[in-house]
Amino acid sequence: MEGSLRQVERLCELCGKPIPEERIEALPKTKRCVDCARENGSGLDTERVDIGMDLDTYRDLLRAVRS
Ligand SMILES: [Zn+2]
Repeated sequence: MEGSLRQVERLCELCGKPIPEERIEALPKTKRCVDCARENGSGLDTERVDIGMDLDTYRDLLRAVRS
């Protein structure tokens, strides 16, 4: 079973580091990791609409998921 359900690891388009799975789940279209999105913007004009919350709220959510 393992493998078929796993998402393909996605690398950040800016720094090349793997994007955390929880970020991809929350933002399936994201191409940037959290750090690069914070530094350079999400690169997604529709992100705010897609996640239904502002970015600061979203970041707090991500921190909660990680801890
Ligand atoms: Zn990055």
